[in-house]
Amino acid sequence: PQTPKTDPFTIAAPASEVSLATRVRVVCRVRPLTETEALRETRLIEAVDDKTVCLQEKETPNVFTYDSVFDEHATQEDIYASVGQKTLADLFKGFNGTILAYGQTGAGKSHTMMGPGDGNDLDRGIIPRVAENIFTHILQSSDEVEYTVGLSMMEVYKEHIFDLLDPQPKDFLIHEDKLNGIHVRGLSQAFVSSSSEMASVLKQGCKNRRTASTNMNTDSSRSHAILQIILTQKDVTSGEIRRSSLFLVDLAGSEKVDRSGATGITLEETKKINLSLSVLGLVINSLTDPKVNHVPYRDSKLTRILQESLGGNSRTTLIINISPASGSYYETLSTLRFGSRAKKIRNSVHINTE
Ligand code: ADP
Ligand code: MG
Repeated sequence: PQTPKTDPFTIAAPASEVSLATRVRVVCRVRPLTETEALRETRLIEAVDDKTVCLQEKETPNVFTYDSVFDEHATQEDIYASVGQKTLADLFKGFNGTILAYGQTGAGKSHTMMGPGDGNDLDRGIIPRVAENIFTHILQSSDEVEYTVGLSMMEVYKEHIFDLLDPQPKDFLIHEDKLNGIHVRGLSQAFVSSSSEMASVLKQGCKNRRTASTNMNTDSSRSHAILQIILTQKDVTSGEIRRSSLFLVDLAGSEKVDRSGATGITLEETKKINLSLSVLGLVINSLTDPKVNHVPYRDSKLTRILQESLGGNSRTTLIINISPASGSYYETLSTLRFGSRAKKIRNSVHINTE
């Protein structure tokens, strides 16, 4: 690979052997106060401008800067235009991409990634919009390229991998080879040829997600949901094949065990869920500390699966979701700090051709 160039996020497709340095893009989204919060709590978060958010701490304001900040007035369309569209355009250029939603339970991760309902309304999130726009793009493109869209959905729960497209229990191993990179061996892949077909596969996968209830949110997800889209583009004339992968990840709630009020088996679950999240934090710390040269990707399933997304061959956007309510102060601060660290991660991308 040649010397990496600095990258302003949008670039022309380079020759495949050229690597481009890029950093993880961090987007902060503040959700509205809920009706209950509005009655009982105060607002601690204000978006100062489109890059700055302020957390009011007693008398002192604590200011954080990200690549973009969206307040409660931001629509799903705004988020897609800022995050999804670029990532999808890059996917068609042949770059791998990742969008991760991080934050405590109830902060708006699933709203951002999936949205409510069956994904047909205005409030649909990034995933259903990506599903539509992939096929819009394919239909508008030239006949010189043959496209294949493969879809996998998995869940990492208590350090086990579950195949959401085939709920039969199975022990999956993470494997690495030249052709497929790091992948979960034996995970099903659905090949889809229209957005409606993709939507029905997504719907089936979501049904298979397991959830457990805590005090915070009865629908809260205790698992990491990982959707992977693999796009293959074959140039009919030259025979060149470009293969690019997009991870869309709805992480488990980042709250501490004591705050979720979990006990018994649920406590054990929370610890294991937090193992992947703790290792995610350690990976980010290792990547951003010049003194550390070992990155503990292999210490959790999540970080191993997402290894290329963090410090590797992927254009990665981290969306940190926060609540503006005073009751969430500590979790919000911890999420904001997590986002600040992640901003320093350097990735290096290239087009994968065969
Ligand atoms: P998480 O997945 O992080 O646990 P959810 O996405 O389920 O959180 O959000 C919790 C609740 O707040 C849901 O009822 C969701 O519809 C609502 N919500 C989250 N973000 C927004 C937003 N930006 N605008 C309106 N409602 C939101
Ligand atoms: Mg959720």
